[in-house]
Amino acid sequence: FKTEQFGQHILKNPLVAQGIVDKANLRPTDQVLEVGPGTGNLTMRILEKAKHVTAVEFDPRMAAELTKRVQGKPEQRKLEIIIGDFVKADLPYFDVCISNTPYQISSPLIFRLLSHRPLPRVCILMFQREFALRLVARPGTELWSRLSANVQLYAKVDHVMNVGKNNFRPAPMVESSVVRVVPKDPPPPVKFEEFDGLGRILFSRRNKTVHGNFMAKGVIDMLEKNWRTWCAETNQMVEDNVVMKTKIEQVLTDMGYGENRAAKMDVDDLLKLLSAFHEIGVHFA
Ligand code: SAM
Repeated sequence: FKTEQFGQHILKNPLVAQGIVDKANLRPTDQVLEVGPGTGNLTMRILEKAKHVTAVEFDPRMAAELTKRVQGKPEQRKLEIIIGDFVKADLPYFDVCISNTPYQISSPLIFRLLSHRPLPRVCILMFQREFALRLVARPGTELWSRLSANVQLYAKVDHVMNVGKNNFRPAPMVESSVVRVVPKDPPPPVKFEEFDGLGRILFSRRNKTVHGNFMAKGVIDMLEKNWRTWCAETNQMVEDNVVMKTKIEQVLTDMGYGENRAAKMDVDDLLKLLSAFHEIGVHFA
């Protein structure tokens, strides 16, 4: 196992570790999921506050260290360690997720948590600072991106604290930040692939207008193909001489979004635009 490959940077500062766990506001009834417990610096503190912890750890040597740390203590029966890759592991029920994982799995981690059912009440997650800042970015700001929109579609995300690299051993190359993710429950009734497909078009050149992005090479052809598939699947008659470009421009004009900068579109704008396209059978996935 290599430090860089598995991101094994252990959180050495006890104040930071305690701070992260405190931010979860754990209840004595909570079942907690921890991803990448390492030697257990967060885990031991979570065990003090929660009813049960399931920790998913890739590295059996780390898991062994954590097992040793609880052995013979009352915490032992509150802890279950799953040895394996979080991305593939079967997850149990959990109320709260707390994680300082390697940053390679940042995206799969957050989307897996948001698609888990029932939804967790809150997730306290440490990420590389740049990733964290994109998660919390607001529309119209420089970091507002497809990732920001996709995550904020499903959750309220707040910045909790910055954690400098010297709080870890060995010190990583990058700075870190902790965020709080509160899933919207119930989640908005929209197909993720559709929302993401629209975002893929709009954020590909985020400083261009919405109209400009739709006119980019290949976009109209793809949307026409999707539209024809949809017509076939729903037994709609395919109109003669359909000009997809005109259909698209009509929606953009009707909705008044055409001349907006793509980077200013917030989640609500994206949802409205998506549903206007769906009304005329234009799909993005
Ligand atoms: N949580 C501990 C802490 O704060 O001190 C350890 C943090 S260390 C940055 C990340 C941990 O995640 C390591 O123990 C590593 O072995 C583990 N890990 C790496 N990839 C993983 C994966 N795909 N699934 C589960 N655990 C993983």
